[in-house]
Amino acid sequence: MIIIMGGKASMKEIKAVQSKLVQEGFTVHISKGVTRTIIGVIGDRTRAFTLSIDVMPGVEKVIPILNPFKLASREFKQDSTLIEIGDQVIGGKDVHLIAGPCAVESRTQLLECAFAVKEAGATFLRGGAFKPRTSPYSFQGLAEVGLEYMAEAKEKTGLLIVTEVMDPRLVPLVARYADILQLGARNMQNFPLLREAAKAGKPILLKRGSGATIEEWLMAAEYVMLEGNHQVILCERGIRTFEIQTRNTLDLNAVPVIKRLSHLPVMVDPSHGTGNWWLVSPMSRAAVAAGADGLLIEVHPSPGDALSDGQQSLKPENFQDLVREVSQVARAVGRVVNGARVGG
Ligand code: PEP
Ligand code: MN
Repeated sequence: MIIIMGGKASMKEIKAVQSKLVQEGFTVHISKGVTRTIIGVIGDRTRAFTLSIDVMPGVEKVIPILNPFKLASREFKQDSTLIEIGDQVIGGKDVHLIAGPCAVESRTQLLECAFAVKEAGATFLRGGAFKPRTSPYSFQGLAEVGLEYMAEAKEKTGLLIVTEVMDPRLVPLVARYADILQLGARNMQNFPLLREAAKAGKPILLKRGSGATIEEWLMAAEYVMLEGNHQVILCERGIRTFEIQTRNTLDLNAVPVIKRLSHLPVMVDPSHGTGNWWLVSPMSRAAVAAGADGLLIEVHPSPGDALSDGQQSLKPENFQDLVREVSQVARAVGRVVNGARVGG
């Protein structure tokens, strides 16, 4: 539930409400607005209502949160969450481009890619060092060496790093290199991993499971947030439907639905969402028009030679075209790409 303290509530009254709830075993989040203080309460709802908080001095209103997700819900926090990473802000006016190869394959492949996407206007470099492959016989990633190449690319280009962690035991290692920890679609409901990754204190890019409802996805975000890490970026990457023309069905409904239900930023990955390089640009434009806060795009210097996901990877020149097109759509909906340093 949410407790709204009246405009004239004193510090003492706010503290009294807080201590009563904490004493009873509830988790309390206080947000001080310009005119009012709002207290968010997490715990057994039925019991919370037996505490008669509504009659305590200074309390204006007690509102139940109807959704099963609490910390992630817009009822709980009305202002959109802004996530600051380095000199970038996610969830504000900027539409971010997170681009790079599916997997880090070699030093030259990664550096070539990093310089190309930086030049085109990306603000983050993506690349997997630990890859979640359907077949155990497929390329699994370069592991720590891949992370070292990512660190070098960051140093040389200034791009911030997004990379996936799949194993709770590897969270400290991956978190040393990553500016954003990616949790993949296959692990959306790997609850021990969600908890462990949250504890690293880095922003989390939480991909939607291919069979997950939006509510299940937000409940996964709730696991991260309950560990005290509120820096969660949701990422729609397509769901499995009966349609087989595309690898997945990119559910762009999810963007405005998330914006309505939650205060968290939401991005779109049209590479995995479609599985075809020629669909990436049109669906990127659609995603930005729908209100996405960023795009995750697979780019490879030579997609035909890629060790994973070559068919959905853009050549650097196609990525450049995409950035130009997306910037125009961004402008039409009151957003900018890379602080409007790129455009068309
Ligand atoms: C990826 O982004 O590299 C990836 C494996 O995506 P997903 O988890 O969405 O399949
Ligand atoms: Mn991929």
